[in-house]
Amino acid sequence: MRKVDLHIHSTYSDGLNSIEDIIKSAIDKGFEAVGISDHSYTTFDLSYCMDKSSYQKYIDEINLLKIKYNDKIKICCGIEQDFFSDAKTQDFDYIIGSVHYLKIENTYIPVDESKEILLKAANKHFNGDIYALIELYYNTVSQVVTKTNCDIIGHIDLITKFNEDGKLFDEKDERYIHSYEKACDKLLAHNKLFEINTGAISRGYRTAPYPSSCIYNYLKGKGARFILSSDSHSKDNIGYKFDEYENLI
Ligand SMILES: [Zn+2]
Ligand SMILES: [Zn+2]
Repeated sequence: MRKVDLHIHSTYSDGLNSIEDIIKSAIDKGFEAVGISDHSYTTFDLSYCMDKSSYQKYIDEINLLKIKYNDKIKICCGIEQDFFSDAKTQDFDYIIGSVHYLKIENTYIPVDESKEILLKAANKHFNGDIYALIELYYNTVSQVVTKTNCDIIGHIDLITKFNEDGKLFDEKDERYIHSYEKACDKLLAHNKLFEINTGAISRGYRTAPYPSSCIYNYLKGKGARFILSSDSHSKDNIGYKFDEYENLI
């Protein structure tokens, strides 16, 4: 397997390490290529994303490091473009398109913050019908390629982050299955890469990568192509568990 990891966060957004430290760690781990993909700027939540004024510095810094480490590793300058970010993407080598929020009546509800936030939103906006909230989530996901023009579709079922115990919703429920299948069908038409994302395992939220085996099998059955991503926020987690899941790609 070619050792490549294109989903890594640095201190430019919510990661722990500098870009150069990430690159050094990737070289130590024997990676052939590495991509930095910090969070795109979102006007409504500045807590985790890259500052608008840092974009050029980020690109310049990566360009210098591309030259500095040219003989050791291939470096790509990416961005994890949130669905609701309107920041420009034309200067990046590649784009990961991700849905981290639901937009309801001009408020943005984070999908990956806590179980309580999702339950509260279902109660407030959907009369307690969590599947209606999920339908909105997958409807948003279904448009992620058209909206972000991404090359890679990020963590397609992020909505399951807090649901490994099945207490938030039933992943075998017909409405759940129907909503992800509809999104998958729309996305498959674009022939982009889908992530096998191990980030929530390394951070202790899940024991299996995104997407679930059901979604993976559905996509696989329809000829989808996959890429392994660590979604790492620490240099130690680059390529996290790639050996274990390389058979999936
Ligand atoms: Zn993400
Ligand atoms: Zn990420």
